[in-house]
Amino acid sequence: MRDMKIVASVLLLGLAGCTVNPSTGRSQFLLLSVEQAQALGEESKLEVVQQYGGELESAEVTSYVERVGRSMARLTEADYPDLPWEFTVLDSDVVNAFALPGGKVFASRGLLARLDNEAQLAGVLGHEIGHVTGQHVNERISQAILISGIVLGTSVAAGSSDSEWARVVPIVVGAAGTGYLLSFNRDQETEADEQGLKYMTAAGYDPAAMIELPEVLKGAGDGSRPPEFLSTHPYPETRIETVSRLLAGPYAYTQDNPAFRKFPDRYRRDALQHLPEPARAP
Ligand SMILES: [Zn+2]
Repeated sequence: MRDMKIVASVLLLGLAGCTVNPSTGRSQFLLLSVEQAQALGEESKLEVVQQYGGELESAEVTSYVERVGRSMARLTEADYPDLPWEFTVLDSDVVNAFALPGGKVFASRGLLARLDNEAQLAGVLGHEIGHVTGQHVNERISQAILISGIVLGTSVAAGSSDSEWARVVPIVVGAAGTGYLLSFNRDQETEADEQGLKYMTAAGYDPAAMIELPEVLKGAGDGSRPPEFLSTHPYPETRIETVSRLLAGPYAYTQDNPAFRKFPDRYRRDALQHLPEPARAP
């Protein structure tokens, strides 16, 4: 009898967990609903912001980043444009960007200072939007729950009491903000690139800027380590090859096409100029 019950609840979890993502068309095993993942993002946001020195106090830069992010978020699929999207600039020298479920996207001041043009920023934000619409944190949590034990899974999936969130949030955020769940696997990174290319192109940016990112960020480490962005978003050769292949294939029409631009002047005027002096790239 008892065994039957266990089998039944595992089956129930399995059935509840399998969904086709309307953005990617990929079938995914997700234990948290969109609402639960969104609540987790809300819960984790404060902790993330605190770990990265708070929000940047520059109305110019924050509203600019917000504008670039929203120009793509509104072009996402299905119900995703209705998420409570937020684009936050963290007041930190660390070079990083990441996203929490529910449309909370973060980019650090240190990362902004490294970029040369608005299309690169759109590439970073579009990639992060891709992690959101790809439900990648939810996917990681669902795997972690399966591995670490169903007990946490059933209570989070069923009731999401405060005490359960208190146990899950630290797993998501982790030490120094680079928790297990905020660093993704290769397939998720590639998918976020594909999604990002789609969103930035739809918003009128030159998608070739995506391939400039590993280059402009490469030298941003402290000498002994690469910048945090490259460890939370691993950049193996295969990823660069995938983006190159897409640029030469489905996105070839955007190249040498004046409809798709990089906007270096606007980036300098609306972002770089307003960053505090030490943060500017040499
Ligand atoms: Zn990524």
